[in-house]
Amino acid sequence: MEFLFGERKGSWILVSNGNSSPNNLARITETIAEAALRSRRSQGDVTVIAVSKTRTVKEIKAVLAAGITNLGENRIQELKEKWSEIGKTATWHLIGSLQTNKVKQALEMADLIHSLDRPALADELDRVAGLRGKPCQVLVQVNVSNENSKHGVSVNGLRALLEHVSQKEWVRVQGLMTMAPFSDEPETARPYFRTLRELAEQTRTLALPNVEMRHLSMGMSGDFAVAVEEGATLVRIGTAIFGDRQ
Ligand SMILES: *Cc1c(COP(=O)(O)O)cnc(C)c1O
Repeated sequence: MEFLFGERKGSWILVSNGNSSPNNLARITETIAEAALRSRRSQGDVTVIAVSKTRTVKEIKAVLAAGITNLGENRIQELKEKWSEIGKTATWHLIGSLQTNKVKQALEMADLIHSLDRPALADELDRVAGLRGKPCQVLVQVNVSNENSKHGVSVNGLRALLEHVSQKEWVRVQGLMTMAPFSDEPETARPYFRTLRELAEQTRTLALPNVEMRHLSMGMSGDFAVAVEEGATLVRIGTAIFGDRQ
């Protein structure tokens, strides 16, 4: 997936033109750099996904101008509206749950789908990707905290799902995604992030075809520093970049 996160990665750390977004970005970059240093990781291994749900195209264009290259949306309809104006100038991440009847649209727009969580969705992704003649890149979402309100395969169900997906011709698993339980205290997220990293390590030892563990998508505005310390390669940040959502 180098083509997604390649040469422009990190370029925005040098940009600051006095608007609030670039200032936010500069602060986030610094926080990521410090967290990476603490965990002896390279800052360049962490990509910021600006979560642009509820934001206007104008707001999004401002962060693109500041050097952001990756955008995350959680609903297909909203992704479509923004995609029609911004299109391939950004790399798009679908971070919300995906219904099987929206897979075709998802694959037309999203470069990486973070929310594969069930065999039926893998089957449909495989079918539609096959029609397109183009492999699809996905992360498996894991409900580490086991909350009813959260999507994702259970920790206990992960292996069976990965084995199922690994037999698909057109689906390429690139890693895992999780959301920590809501909390004002970032440290409460750490055990969930650590578990996700351990699950990725265990998965690597299985050496399943079509299953790579290059990415851990974890960490949001409140807890991305902890996520980076625990190995996140993709952090999904909304409010810390754009301000509070209405
Ligand atoms: C909204 C959202 C985010 C970003 O949340 P913030 O707290 O605004 O940073 C990250 N991941 C997912 C899946 C989301 O839906």
